[in-house]
Amino acid sequence: KTYVASEDRYDKMKYRRCGNSGLRLPELSLGLWHNFGNNADFTKGREILRTAFDLGICHFDLANNYGPPYGSAEENFGRMFKKDFLPYRDELVISSKAGWDMWPGPYGNWGSKKYLVASLDQSLKRMALDYVDIFYHHRPDPETPLEETMQTLDLMVRQGKALYVGISQYSAEDTQRAIDILNDLGTPMLIHQPRYSMFDRWVENGLMDILGSNGVGSIAFSPLEQGLLTDKYLKGIPKDSRAAKDGRYLTVEQISEDKLSVIRKLNDLAISRGQTLAQMAISWLLKDERITSVLIGVSRPAQIQDNVAAIENTTFTKEELDKIESILAD
Ligand code: NDP
Repeated sequence: KTYVASEDRYDKMKYRRCGNSGLRLPELSLGLWHNFGNNADFTKGREILRTAFDLGICHFDLANNYGPPYGSAEENFGRMFKKDFLPYRDELVISSKAGWDMWPGPYGNWGSKKYLVASLDQSLKRMALDYVDIFYHHRPDPETPLEETMQTLDLMVRQGKALYVGISQYSAEDTQRAIDILNDLGTPMLIHQPRYSMFDRWVENGLMDILGSNGVGSIAFSPLEQGLLTDKYLKGIPKDSRAAKDGRYLTVEQISEDKLSVIRKLNDLAISRGQTLAQMAISWLLKDERITSVLIGVSRPAQIQDNVAAIENTTFTKEELDKIESILAD
């Protein structure tokens, strides 16, 4: 059936300015790291994208190697985009990345100009797009001069293949250097994509301050710690969960009794706030104005509906914040 986007899609979602840029992003964005490869159900993926867009989630995040196999998430997204979203291209912010291993040999990984230029061209072909809205260098490369990598991002913008550029997983110190180099080149850094959740708080150790003071936005990935920060594992490991059925990045062994006891306490606190744990985990990130967007993954449309309600309550009392700190310190 032809997809017609919900007319009230922009009524409930909130949008935040990405640093000092002209671009605003939805408080929740959707990532296609899992559940869009060739091992996933195409129709369900399509339903997930439609549900997201109908709720005002107009930012979809991809990377060259999302799958499996590598490239297949972009290919499948391209097919879904062609079927459902062609009339909405100008309402969407679509991102891709390169920086992890993608093809064999010395030019299919890390941060050289040779790799990044070829990879973005391949991504555009797979998605059948003329340009991406944001292109990221996916992780720092300790060997390629940062100047070369940043010059390549600047080049992509000048060629019109990316409108904005960002970086992911860079340390606070490297981020400041990258920002300075890009400023000199005349292409400001739009955004940093770090891992950030109640269970992984490294960004509080300098990175958020650097982004805030330089007017660079941020989008937090794995905010639910791949599903741990939800109520889904509290009564055992569901067969259709990421831990049970994928096992590449979240393993059953990681879900220890100690962890579950922390999750149980957080879940009780979420309930006392009138939220699900997933919602509280997202709200807790959005309480910081410097977070532009929270980048979730989902395996079914109902999870988006659950998660999107997080934006209705992003304030915490001091008691609630202290309680969270004491639970996490256990
Ligand atoms: P999350 O931490 O949001 O985990 C998503 C998983 O949590 C879902 O697949 C689902 O798992 C479960 N889940 C989501 N909502 C609910 C809910 N309401 N109730 C119960 N379970 C729920 O994020 P991801 O780890 O998937 O990462 C999100 C995105 O971040 C990626 O798609 C990618 O775009 C980006 N990313 C970027 C990286 C980088 O290096 N820059 C690295 C990793 C991710 P289940 O399958 O068990 O249902």
